[in-house]
Formats: sequence, C-alpha cells, structure tokens
Amino acid sequence: MKKKEKTLTPKLIKKLWLAFVLIIVLMGASYIIITAYLANKYNEETTQRINANTANHVINEKFQKESPFLEDGSVNKALFGDLMHDMMAVNHSIEVYLLDKSGTVLYSVVLDHSGNAPMQSVSLAPINYFITTKGEKYVLGDDPRNHGEQNIFSVAPFNIDGREGFIYIILAGKDFQVVSDNLFGQYFMKLGLGAIALTMFFAALIALLSIWFLTKNLLLITKTVRSFQEGDLDARIENPDASDIAILANSFNEMADTIVDNMDKMKSVDLLRRELIANVSHDLRTPLAILKGYVETLQMKNETLSENDKKEYLQITHDNIDKLSKLINQLFEYSKLEAEQVSPIKEPFSITELSHDLIAKFKVLADKKNISLKLNNPEDNCLVFADVSLVERALQNLIENALKYTEDNGTVTLSLLKKGKNIEINISDTGTGIAVSELPYIFDRYKQVDKSTKKQGYGLGLAIVKKIMDLHDTTITVLSKPKEGSSFIFNLPAYQVN
Ligand code: ADP
Repeated sequence: MKKKEKTLTPKLIKKLWLAFVLIIVLMGASYIIITAYLANKYNEETTQRINANTANHVINEKFQKESPFLEDGSVNKALFGDLMHDMMAVNHSIEVYLLDKSGTVLYSVVLDHSGNAPMQSVSLAPINYFITTKGEKYVLGDDPRNHGEQNIFSVAPFNIDGREGFIYIILAGKDFQVVSDNLFGQYFMKLGLGAIALTMFFAALIALLSIWFLTKNLLLITKTVRSFQEGDLDARIENPDASDIAILANSFNEMADTIVDNMDKMKSVDLLRRELIANVSHDLRTPLAILKGYVETLQMKNETLSENDKKEYLQITHDNIDKLSKLINQLFEYSKLEAEQVSPIKEPFSITELSHDLIAKFKVLADKKNISLKLNNPEDNCLVFADVSLVERALQNLIENALKYTEDNGTVTLSLLKKGKNIEINISDTGTGIAVSELPYIFDRYKQVDKSTKKQGYGLGLAIVKKIMDLHDTTITVLSKPKEGSSFIFNLPAYQVN
C-alpha cells in the first residue's frame, strides 16, 4: 500500500528557522543595547578623565591672581564671568558653577541661557568622591541645569581669604549633549545596522549548519524507518552511535530487533501449534479407527465370536478409550498451562509424604516390569513451599516416564536432598537414556525423541513438567547417557518451621 508521502522535515525546518530568527532578533537587540550603553559610558569616562583637572586649573591659574569675591563677600560677577568666558571660548561644552562649601550654587556661567534655571544646590557626595579619587574614577554628579539628571563633572576646592567652596564644572553641558546626541544617533544607527547585519549573517550560518546537521540525521532515520515499515525487516540505522541523535537511532534499532524477535517467536509458536494439531489429530485418529474396527466386528460377528475373543476385543476397545482419554486430559492440561490460566497456590507441604504416596501408587506398575522403585530420603521429613497438586502432577509424569523408558529388572529412584534453602528432587532411572543431540528438545511439546522406539505417549508429559517448573520459578535439568539411564533434577524452596 502506497502511503501519501509525508515528510516531517519542512515543518521542522520552519520551526527551527522561527526559533533562529527569534534568537537573532533578541541577540541583535541585546548586542546593540549593551554596546550603546558601554559606548556612552566610555565616551563620558574619557571626557571626564581628560578634563579632570580643569577645575583645579581655574583655581591655580586664575584665583591665585585675583579673588572672585568682593570686599563685602559677594561674588565678583564681572571678574568671574570674564574668567569663565575665556575658558568657555576654548571649550563650549562646559558650564561653570561657583559653590560654597555646603554645595549651594553661588554663581553660574553658562553660554546657553535657555531651559531651566540652575538648581539651588548640588549633592556633595559625588564631589567628595571626585576629590578623594583625584578624578581618576568615573563618577556622575548633579547637573544643576537638568534637574534630576546626572552628568560628568570636574571639581576643585578653594579657600580664598577664609572663604571655602568649590569650582564645579559640568563637562558635558547642554551644547555637548546636543552635539553628542546628534552624533551618537548617527553612530547608533550605523552601529545598530552593522551589528544586526553581522549577527544575522553569523546566526544564519549557524542556523543553516544546525538545520543541515539535524535534518541530515533525521532524514537518514526517517528513510530507515520507512523501509522497515514497508517490510524490509533488516533495515537498521547504520552506526547509530555516530549519529547526532544517537538515542533515537539506537532506540529505533532496538525496537526493530524486538519486533523481529517477537515475529520469529510468534512464527515458531505458530509452527509448533500446527505441528501439535497435525500430531494430535493423527494420534486421535489411530485409537478411534481401532475402536471403530473392533466395535463393528463385535456388532457384525457377535453370534460367531467365542467368549474369549469377545473379552479380548472388549479389552482392546477399553485400552484405546483409556489412551484417548489420557491424551485428551493431557492436551487439556497443557493448553490450560500454556494459556496461563493456572496460577499456583503455594503452601507448605511434606514432599516426603507425597513421594511415599506416589511410590505406593506406581508400585503395581513397577512390579509388573520387575523394576525396583525406591525412595531415597536421608532427611526425616522434607517440607517445601509450592503448589502441591502441580508438583504431584510433575512427579507423576517424571516417574511414569522413568518406568516407561526403563527395561525390565531396572531401577527407578526418587531422591530428596536438602541443599541450602532448597530441596533437590531427583528422579533417576537405569533406562534407555536420551541421545545428547535430542536432549535440548525433550521439553518441547509433542517431541518424542526417537520415533522408532516410540512407547505409549504423546510427548506432552515433559512439556507439562516444564510449565509447572516455570510457574514455580525453577528449572529442571536432565543428565542422561544412552543405555545407562537418565536423571531429572529440580529444586523447590524448603519450608522452614520456626
Ligand atoms: P511421552 O509422552 O512421549 O513420554 P514426554 O514429554 O514425557 O512424552 O517425553 C518426551 C520424550 O523424552 C520421550 O518421548 C522420550 O523420548 C524422552 N524421555 C522422557 N523421559 C525419559 C526417560 N526417563 N528416559 C529416557 N527417555 C525419556
């Protein structure tokens, strides 16, 4: 069935692109903001450092010659104005303030008189900091003409005729601000555009590379998944650990292995089931045909048959009915075990007592073949914790087999031995033994190892034993040598009486 071509990559690529564009925009914006902030700071700091001594210079050069105060203590505005204007002729961007020692503005000299009237006083903290650090540290002080704003400045203290105060010079005055803002705007634009273009370029490059890397691996995985989906069960991602999304590649490979394993198991289960049905129908048909033959003969020749013949024929029909009911019972039992309809009811019980009972039960059969059937139980009484009826069933099958495959005058021994926390149960015989090549298959249902020596049985006995062992979380081991005998050994947890 041809499915509509679906590719997951374009959708993924779209999302990746979206994410990258977002990153680019965010990166670009933060880059510009940080750069602008730092550039501004750099500019201010440089200006402040260069002009740090301006205020000092005024005091040393000018105030040494003439006092800025009149006899009555008021400011000599004419002189101060002249002095300052001289300076401002050289540097337009400064604004000069004469402060008393508490920071009150006594007089100010500015070129541009538009805007706010100067503040009454300025904060002393930045002034003191500037003086202690000798103007070598970047610091902002109150800008008297821009209320609430801070600006770079130069300051120097003076003491003339007992009058103390400061010459306070705002270095980036209104003029400076206008020019700087203008220039800055232009640079900012250029910087912004340049930064955006550059980040865009590199981010796009990274985006392209990442998308290529991601989709390259994804495409390979998708291709393999699709071939698997279309029936190529051998399709696996080559070298999954080398993939950039190794976890996905490995998971797919493991999943594919599990699917193939399960399919194989199902196939073999299906094969065995068919084999079982074929064999069962064959085994049902044989005794049924025999039964039919003898019953018909009895019906048709009832008058002519001797009493002895009739007895013999009836015995044969009886034996075949036995065979049939045994097979049907075994089948029923096995299918219940296989369908996991049986859950063991575990309880403590005496395996010694159970063994005695079974030996007594099989005594007649053993005697018939002159087989010595013994119980070897050195401990007084062995208690186990298991499902008594299931264990009885397993032991029955094993003893039955031992008697079945042991020639006349042989020995069958059931041994119980305490081993650590377990009781080891061993059913050994001096019978025909099993060929090494057949050993791995004897627990498979419907496997009678050697068809030529086929005794009465349907190959279900050991399969049932195996299922019972599984239900008790234990395993059964076979030791066997052809012509010498076999031992079937399994362990059950011992029950400790406190
Ligand atoms: P069956 O009903 O044919 O005995 P089982 O499942 O009980 O089926 O046994 C499977 C096969 O294992 C038997 O056909 C037989 O070949 C072999 N086998 C089982 N027990 C013994 C034993 N004690 N000695 C020799 N062969 C055995």
